[in-house]
Amino acid sequence: MNIVEMYKENKTLLSFEVFPPKKTSPIESVYGVLEELTALKPAYVSVTYGAGGTAADNTCAIAAKIKNTYNIEAIAHITCVNSTKRQVEDALDNFKANSIDNVLALRGDIVPDLPPQTDFRHADELTAFIKSKGGFHVAGACYPEVHPEAEDEITDIINLKKKVDAGAEFLISQLFFDNQCFYDFLKRCRLAGINVPIEAGIMPVVNKNQIQRMVSLCGASLPAKFSRIMNRYENNPEALRDAGIAYAVDQCVDLIANGVSGIHLYTMNNPYVARRICEAIGKLL
Ligand code: FAD
Repeated sequence: MNIVEMYKENKTLLSFEVFPPKKTSPIESVYGVLEELTALKPAYVSVTYGAGGTAADNTCAIAAKIKNTYNIEAIAHITCVNSTKRQVEDALDNFKANSIDNVLALRGDIVPDLPPQTDFRHADELTAFIKSKGGFHVAGACYPEVHPEAEDEITDIINLKKKVDAGAEFLISQLFFDNQCFYDFLKRCRLAGINVPIEAGIMPVVNKNQIQRMVSLCGASLPAKFSRIMNRYENNPEALRDAGIAYAVDQCVDLIANGVSGIHLYTMNNPYVARRICEAIGKLL
C-alpha cells in the first residue's frame, strides 16, 4: 500500500522503526519483538539497513515478515554510499520479490575506513534511480537541526528540495528533543516549496548511555528541561526510564495538538516502551 494515501485521512500517523539483529545473532531473535510491536497496530514499521553494524541482508526479510505475517505495512531502508547501481538493483529486486514496495532511500553515513562508491553521491540520485525503475514508493530522511555535514540550514533545505523533486513522497525526520526545532524546520520546508508530509522522529530515552550516543551521533540539542530530568534520575534506572517515556509522551502530545502528519517512534526494538507510549497517546491520534 502507498503510505502517502494514509496521510490523506488528516490524522497524525504513528509509525515505528526497528533494526535487524547484529550480524552475530540469528534473524529469528527479533521475531518476538516484531510480534509485540505490530500488535500495537502502528500505521507502518520501517526497518533500518546496515545501521549500527546490523546485517543489511536481513532488512528485506524483516520487512517481509512484518508485512506478510503480521499484516502491517513495512518500509525497507536502503543506503547507497557503499553500493554500486548493480547492488542497489539486486536489493530492489529482492524487495519486489517479497512484496515490499515502500522504501526509505538514504545516502548512508560515510565511514572513514571505507571509501564511498561513486554511482550515487547523494540520496536524491538514489531516489531518482529507484523511481526510474518503477513500482516503488520512496520516502527520504530530513534533519530539523540540519544535517551534520551541511554548510548551513539554507543549503540543507535546498538539498532536501532536490530529494523531494527527485521523487521522495514523504519525509521522516531525525530525532529531536525540542519540538520548536521541528516547527521551525517545517516552516523552512514550506517556504522552500517542500509540501510533502513530514513525520517527526521521536526517541524515548530510557538510559543514560543512549543519550550520550544519540547526541554524539546526530547532534540533537538537549533542552534544559530534558537535561534536568536526565541528571536527576541518572542513578535510578527505573525512574530514568519512566521520566524518558513521560518526556517523549509530552513531545508527542504537543506534536499531535499541532497537527503534524506523523510521529515516527525510534523504538530501539523495545516493545515495552512503545506500548507505554501507545497507551498514553493512542486516543489522541
Ligand atoms: P543526503 O540526503 O544525501 O544528505 C547528506 C548530506 O549531503 C547533507 O548534508 C545534504 O545537505 C547534502 N546533500 C544532499 N543532496 C545533495 C546534493 N544533490 N548536492 C550536494 N549536497 C547534497 N543510516 C543507515 O546506514 N541505515 C539506515 O537504515 C538509516 N536510517 C535512517 C533513517 C532516518 C529517518 C534518518 C534521519 C537517518 C537514517 N540513517 C540511516 C542515517 C543517514 O544515512 C545519515 O544521516 C546520512 O549521513 C545521510 O543520509 P541522507 O539520505 O539524509 O543523505
